[in-house]
Amino acid sequence: MSHVAHQSSAETIAQFDRYVIGNYRRYPVCLVRGEGSWIWDAEGRRYLDFFPGWGCNMIGHCPPRVVEAVREQVGELIHIPNTWYMEAQGQFAQLLSDRSFGGQCFFCNSGAEANEAAIKLARAHGHAAGRTKIITVEHGFHGRTYGALTATAQPKYHVGFEPMVPGFEYAPHNDLAAMEKLIDDKTAAVLLEPIQGEGGVNLPAPGYLEGLRKLCTERGALLILDEVQTGLGRTGTWFAYQHYGIEPDIMTVAKALAGGVAAGVLIAQKNVAATLKPGMHASTFGGNPIACRAGIATIETIDAEGLLERGKAIGERFRSHFERIRTARPDLVKEIRIMGVMIGLELTVDASTVVQKCLEAGLLINATHGTVIRLLPALNILDEQIDDGCATLFDVIRSLPATA
Ligand SMILES: *Cc1c(COP(=O)(O)O)cnc(C)c1O
Repeated sequence: MSHVAHQSSAETIAQFDRYVIGNYRRYPVCLVRGEGSWIWDAEGRRYLDFFPGWGCNMIGHCPPRVVEAVREQVGELIHIPNTWYMEAQGQFAQLLSDRSFGGQCFFCNSGAEANEAAIKLARAHGHAAGRTKIITVEHGFHGRTYGALTATAQPKYHVGFEPMVPGFEYAPHNDLAAMEKLIDDKTAAVLLEPIQGEGGVNLPAPGYLEGLRKLCTERGALLILDEVQTGLGRTGTWFAYQHYGIEPDIMTVAKALAGGVAAGVLIAQKNVAATLKPGMHASTFGGNPIACRAGIATIETIDAEGLLERGKAIGERFRSHFERIRTARPDLVKEIRIMGVMIGLELTVDASTVVQKCLEAGLLINATHGTVIRLLPALNILDEQIDDGCATLFDVIRSLPATA
């Protein structure tokens, strides 16, 4: 069944200009239909998508198992509140727990909400001992609600919205010595992304996460990992922390959690989870049957199609293409940072013209932190699609003017 566009991109854009708040910078394209790593606009033009759904569509647009599960579920029950038990939520929680550290789940609808829940849980857990301080890391990103925004140690997101929530402190990224100074007997938790996404696909320095885990344990602070972007297979393991032989006390996951359907989750070790008693925290739509059925179908797809292994191979294929680009234009390529299908190419120049030129050539990519090309391709992207898209990217970068 294909969606029929009833109006042109121009008509939709005009409608937005009149009726939708302009808080996003949007490309002048209205997308109407997607399949795998292809997506079509209202005029029928096809694009190759190296950034499907901003990381949410990690198993491609309209993954068949997810489409089927959601279709079936909407005809049975669309929503019931968390005053009742529902089969899909329990099953989804078990699948997530089994693939991580055997913890318990709280479901919500987004990354910011999951991080809000994590901050509340950490404070509630430490409250009796006077532990309320939350430490986060510079260039991190945790969402736009006040707690998550305060946790986001990037001044550009705070400006004009002050005052922030009290009780937060920030450490430079990959700086264990700074953490050693900040974590004290008033610290409830350290919250960070194992790999920074929005901050530019920044990998942890060797030993950093392991050292931080040890420090938190010694000082009685919780370690919260924000795996909103890295979670559910993005980096070649179910969760990024699994590369480092550590476990967090609390983990948050959203974006790809339910194959593109809105969903978020907090997973906590049982002793920490036990802090939350009835009435302390809630989400009306959290863990609804549609999101949970979609989530179950997402995990089934990754399992059935061997997509964790595939993710590693995709990352290496991108790496070899990027090495060719670097050889051709060493003046423009500063660093290649890849972990599975979490892919960063840091340039020496602003990356926004590259995004624009790729769009014109029918390739959708993202730029973050000014100079970093960020790709979050689907785990089921085909080799030909990778090669074709990288050829486009190569052409675009090769044609940029020489840097001084
Ligand atoms: C996207 C993102 C968030 C925010 O998620 P929303 O669903 O937009 O609230 C939080 N943390 C990380 C690491 C993210 O990438």
